[in-house]
Amino acid sequence: MTTPPGNPAALLARRARVLAPTYQLFYEQPLQIVRAEGVWMYDEHGRRYLDAYNNVPVVGHCHPQVVEALARQAGTLNTHTRYLAEQPLQLAETLLATLPPELGSVIFTCTGSEANDLAVRISKGVTGGSGFIVTEFSYHGATDVIAGMSPEDGGPLGPGVYTVPAPLAADGAAAFGAHVGRCIERMRADGVRLAAMLVDTIFSSDGVVAEPRGFLADAVQKVHEAGGLFIADEVQPGFGRLGEAMWGCQRHGIVPDLVTMGKPMGNGHPVAAVAGRAAVFAEFARGRRYFNTYGGNSVSCAAALAVLEVIRSENLLENARRSGEYLRRGLKELARRHEAIREVRGAGLFIGVELGANNASGLSGGPETRRIVNGMCRRGVLVGSTGRNANVLKIRSPLTLEPQHADLLLDALDQTLQSRA
Ligand code: PMP
Repeated sequence: MTTPPGNPAALLARRARVLAPTYQLFYEQPLQIVRAEGVWMYDEHGRRYLDAYNNVPVVGHCHPQVVEALARQAGTLNTHTRYLAEQPLQLAETLLATLPPELGSVIFTCTGSEANDLAVRISKGVTGGSGFIVTEFSYHGATDVIAGMSPEDGGPLGPGVYTVPAPLAADGAAAFGAHVGRCIERMRADGVRLAAMLVDTIFSSDGVVAEPRGFLADAVQKVHEAGGLFIADEVQPGFGRLGEAMWGCQRHGIVPDLVTMGKPMGNGHPVAAVAGRAAVFAEFARGRRYFNTYGGNSVSCAAALAVLEVIRSENLLENARRSGEYLRRGLKELARRHEAIREVRGAGLFIGVELGANNASGLSGGPETRRIVNGMCRRGVLVGSTGRNANVLKIRSPLTLEPQHADLLLDALDQTLQSRA
């Protein structure tokens, strides 16, 4: 059964019949996207939308070099990591060259959730601890263990999981280390031994926090002093999105014990990994094996290698830095004219715009942000929202975004802020 184009009601009805109610759609008028290219997504009528939301197609949708690498490898060989082969080795070598030299090897998985799940398992095995620190509104993935470390999901926290306020709280990002210190004391008082702190280095779900650069260092030092590991969740900020380094942890001048990555790694193809310090992996590997059927398969590795090659050859870090700066400057300009914009945050092409009350619409916070997201969609620009109160616009375009695309986004936001719809 297929539904002819232009009948969203029929697609919605089919969805409701066969997809579990756990799924959610974006936008009041859900989009049917049928193809995409670069920064553009196209609906079934051929109308194009500027994609400033999806952080997966990091080098642009359907990048020809990635498509070609996928197709070539799929037509040659696709197998797992139990044979000698070039692809996983080339990928590991290329990835490790972008990470701090202390991180000596990698384990491939298929999703960011699996990568975090494995990092948590390693932390428990290596430290003998069972306590974990995460931020109050973070998201780290969908396995049972990781859902218990993802308060954004709304489910109960897992055993031994403690939260610290996101560094957005009134006392500011610089106080993050003090919060972590107090959390470690609470854990100690409860007789729980610290295994690790797991933090998304751009605090995506907490509402995007990039500054002051370096504020994570104090917290990481306290974790290490307490015998715990630091896991940098780079699933969202990684692969150059922050514009000045490949990884968010590098902006903070810290060397994690484990780095987890995924999402943009295959530009849409499911491939993810954990990179770690040699001593940590060596300790975990003692008497234990880890095998993931599809983790490190030949096709996924070819896709990820092509992504890394495009980031390098098209100088996309520099583009993310430049276009991100341009966009943030434009957003700050808009903030001078629209009191609804409270703050513009972020680094590179990971931007959060916190919204307050808007006189033009009579709405504020979460409802105003929802209105803006839907209004911009109607104007052909896709953005999302984040944060505990869902009052932060989340902007994360492909790293190929150019100033002329940023201008379209700024115009759409300007118009939507002034209108009632
Ligand atoms: N960590 C972070 C910070 C994420 O945003 C996500 C996905 N949104 C994950 C982990 C989980 O990745 P995946 O959906 O690939 O399992």
